[in-house]
Amino acid sequence: MFIHYAGDDVLEVAKQAYLMYFSENGLGLRAFRSLAKFESEVVEMGLGLLHGNAQARGAMTTGGTESIFLAVKAARDLAKKRDSGRGKPQILMACSAHPAFDKAAHFMGLDTVRTPLQADFRADPAAIEAAITPDTVMIVGSVPAYPHGVIDPISEIAALAQKHGIWMHVDACVGGYFAPFAKQLGETIPDWDFLVPGVTSISADLHKYGYTAKGASTLFFRDAESFAGMGWSFDNWPRGQYATNTLVGTRPGGAIAAAWAVMKYLGQSGYQRVTQRVIDTRCALQTGTTALGLTTFGDPKLSILAYGSYEHNIADIGVRMTAHGWLVGHVTTPPGLHHMLNLTHEPAIPRYLNNLSDSMSQASSSKQLGKLNAQY
Ligand SMILES: *Cc1c(COP(=O)(O)O)cnc(C)c1O
Repeated sequence: MFIHYAGDDVLEVAKQAYLMYFSENGLGLRAFRSLAKFESEVVEMGLGLLHGNAQARGAMTTGGTESIFLAVKAARDLAKKRDSGRGKPQILMACSAHPAFDKAAHFMGLDTVRTPLQADFRADPAAIEAAITPDTVMIVGSVPAYPHGVIDPISEIAALAQKHGIWMHVDACVGGYFAPFAKQLGETIPDWDFLVPGVTSISADLHKYGYTAKGASTLFFRDAESFAGMGWSFDNWPRGQYATNTLVGTRPGGAIAAAWAVMKYLGQSGYQRVTQRVIDTRCALQTGTTALGLTTFGDPKLSILAYGSYEHNIADIGVRMTAHGWLVGHVTTPPGLHHMLNLTHEPAIPRYLNNLSDSMSQASSSKQLGKLNAQY
């Protein structure tokens, strides 16, 4: 949780670049030409990875929440422009989608509708279709969804969005800079990016598996019209035109420079190498937890693993793991433990599994025997 480490060398590149541009301001790209170049090259690299065509556009933001806010704003404004007779606009998504959509909805005057999952923890396209209303302005799919780490059926959901003429956002805050490399390495991951017709926008965090300094995400759009909705401009004050693509005004130049530097430093082969090690770490943990009799939620293919237990009280196991010194992440539905992995975990797996085995032998038995699938 909370950090994404890819080696001391990567950290050093990010720090050096950040410090060189510590005082520069991404609001002033006319003044800071290097930042303009960095941002446009980061966007170009991202769009290359996510199969944007010549019409595709994007920008850097300060994080996943900002990317999601701006995608929601763009979708809301476009729907309003096309049909102003609507009621309160709604965002439609599976219950596993990130709270940033609810935060954005709360701040910007939308409602959210959350639908149940399929038994394999992926979003249920049928439940989503049944919940579409004339007020639905955005449908969301996640790559992956954070709670269980599984990838939603993006092409099915995007087909629904297209059929009903609704904006489809793919939240790849976790997977945007991980899933493409996993796929290149041979993992079976269905298409989910701009290759899928109907996908309008994608959020992808650089400060997660882009391995750069905190304060960096990307937001991409299929075409210039949808991208235009991200921006905001104003001139009714004595200082003339004020226009931004982002929610924030002043932007930390260091975060933009560090993202560019780390992307150039790692390159495709660097990202592939780190991705393989993270997948191997997740597999080692998954093999170990399975051998201990724990049940993995769904079929995770990326960097997140969540599991529960039919026999033991998993909350009790969590308490015991905390006593062993681990920072424990919880899934509430169904009850489970959660891991988002990076290279700091690589050497820790054997010790973790030892502690887990001890904790299980001391833990009370489960009081909630039942299904560990998504039918809650
Ligand atoms: C982290 C995350 C976000 C929000 O990103 P922040 O950078 O924390 O604002 C959104 N969606 C998913 C799936 C995430 O994991």
